Formats: sequence, C-alpha cells, structure tokens
Amino acid sequence: MHPRIYQALASPIVGHLDPYFFEVMDDTKDLLRQTFRTKNEITFPIAGTGMAGMEAAICNVVEEGDEVVVCVNGLFGARMSDIAHRNGGKVTEIKRTWGESISPADVKEALSRCRKPKAVALVHAETSTGVLQPLSEISKIAHDFGALLIADTVTSLGGCELDIDRMGIDVAFSGSQKCLNCPPGLSPMTTNEKTMAAIRNRKTRVRSWYFDIAEIEKYWSQGRAYHHTGPISMVYALREALRIVQEEGLENRWTRHRKNCEALVRGLESMGLTMLVKDAQERLPSLTAVRVPESIADTTLRGALLNQFNIEIGGGLGELKGHILRIGLMGLNSSRKNIVLVLDALEKVLNDQGHAVKR
Ligand SMILES: *Cc1c(COP(=O)(O)O)cnc(C)c1O
Repeated sequence: MHPRIYQALASPIVGHLDPYFFEVMDDTKDLLRQTFRTKNEITFPIAGTGMAGMEAAICNVVEEGDEVVVCVNGLFGARMSDIAHRNGGKVTEIKRTWGESISPADVKEALSRCRKPKAVALVHAETSTGVLQPLSEISKIAHDFGALLIADTVTSLGGCELDIDRMGIDVAFSGSQKCLNCPPGLSPMTTNEKTMAAIRNRKTRVRSWYFDIAEIEKYWSQGRAYHHTGPISMVYALREALRIVQEEGLENRWTRHRKNCEALVRGLESMGLTMLVKDAQERLPSLTAVRVPESIADTTLRGALLNQFNIEIGGGLGELKGHILRIGLMGLNSSRKNIVLVLDALEKVLNDQGHAVKR
C-alpha cells in the first residue's frame, strides 16, 4: 500500500452523515469519474469487495427470464455466469480456453441466438489468466442487439487503459485493492443512464436490498438518506488513492504499467519461460501469467520465493492450478525495482530446484 493511504486510514472518524463526510463523498465521486473516464451520474463505491460490485451490477440488471450472454474464459467470468443464473437469468455462456480472449464473432453468434438479449457480461482484465479483453468491438455488437454491456474492471481500473464512455461500457465495477493500492473493502462502480432506465423498467424489484443501486444512490447523492453506515476510513483511503492516480496522470500510469509488464516478460522469456497468453497485445499490464516448468511443483517455487525473498506470487486458479505463476505488478508495485527483485529471485530459486537458467 502507498504510505499516503496508510495515513488516510488513520484520519479521524466522523459520522457517516457529517457534512464533512459529504464533502469527502463528493470528492470521491468526482475523482472516480475521472479515473473511470465517464460522465455517469451514478458513480460511487459500493461497500464491499470486488465481488460485491459484481453481485450489484448483475442483480440490478438481470431479472427472472432475462437472456444474458456471459463470456467465460477464466474464474471471474464463471462467477458472473453463476450470479446471472442465481438472479433468474437465461444464461448463454461463451466458453474459451483459459488464457484466450473472447472474439467479437463469438459474441455476435451468441447474441443472434437470443430472442431479446438483456446484457452481455465480460471481464476486461481477467486476473485468473492475465488476459486483457479487447472491448470496443464487442460493445458495438452488444448495442446493435439492444443489450447492455457489463464489464468487470477490477484489475484494470487505475492500471490499464480504460475509458468507460468511449469504450461503450454501460455498467462497470472494480475493487479497491488491485491497481489502486487500497485495502480490500470497496468496489467502485459506475452505471449509465441507459442502464438506470432499464433498471427502472424492471417487472420485479431488485432481489437484493443491500445492492439495490437506486437505493444506494439516495445516500451518495444530495438526498443524503441513510441507507447503510458508510465505511468512513475506507472512503478516506479510496479518495487518497484516486488523488495519487490523478497526480501521476491516468495515461502516464497506463504507460508505466504497460512498459513494466513488457520488461518483466522480456526477463522471464530470457530465462526460457513461456507466457500463458500468447498474443502480446492481449497481455494484462497489471498481471502476468507465466507457465511453471514441468519439472517443478509451483508450491515449491512460490514457497521458496516467499520464505527466502519475501515475495508473494499468485498460483494458478481452477484449471490452471499448479500450471502457472501469476505475477502482479499493480499500482505502486509496478516498478523497475520490483521487476529486478522478482527476476533475480526467480532465477536463484529455479537454479536451486535444478532447473538451470541463465539470463
Ligand atoms: C479480485 C477480483 C474480483 C473479486 O474481488 P474481491 O475483492 O476478491 O471480492 C473480481 N474480478 C476480478 C477480475 C478480480 O481480479
């Protein structure tokens, strides 16, 4: 975490209906709009982790009988499908091997089989595989079919190129603890007017009381109606995180993440390691998935990195468990210093395990 965010967390707590806190809330909404690159009125953090944002996005849009196309090429896509099912959606899954992206043609084909599709849901930055999903073309196709586009931007917000309005994303949610370097606990969210109109036109009320966006908005807008007790310290932390993003400049930040990811990949490839995502254009700048050499157990490798070098690296999830390492370079942690650190440590640990590498 950024030291300034630790400091923000230690700021004095005021009441959740204190006029001072309203100022902090308004600042946070403005900063979030700049960071999401949107004019959407409904833009605020949901009290809960990234999964709360996913739950909120889907349960507001999808009701009993709605046709939804969900792109499943990793763990988080599979969760979106599960949540859409639980809300009574008639789900069409587009399945792709983990590590590949979803093609616009696949989305078009799935939508053309629907009678009246309500939404397309996909993951912009699939943290379980390291795939950055190209969006713009899919958003056009979704809109041609009259469907809304719901995007999971948990690992892209503040780290990878993301422009909600230009990319045509109708609903997006994110997380405080990925590229924003906050503690886990808030899910920044943005929803456009077209989506709010669709929500107002629902035949049934949103099943979830806590995640009903129109109700939460009453607390986050000028009405200031009590909905739930705002998580004061976390909002302080998020505001500070967003200020840090704006001070660096969003585009500078995207470039830094992309260049550092490229440097990491060059280092890994020079050790003879293979990336999971073949197409360099589709590699997620904030998370790199690299294949574990056949002869070594990933738990041994990650254990040695943690115990000898104090470096924590993610393992594979689901069908990739044991097969990949997931190296996150998010926000503050996307730095040259960390790249050198992780490459040196990995080289040492691989050699110790009898897998000779030389850079
Ligand atoms: C981390 C993550 C989530 C879930 O966020 P939590 O904070 O763990 O609830 C959802 N989607 C993606 C792509 C993520 O990386």
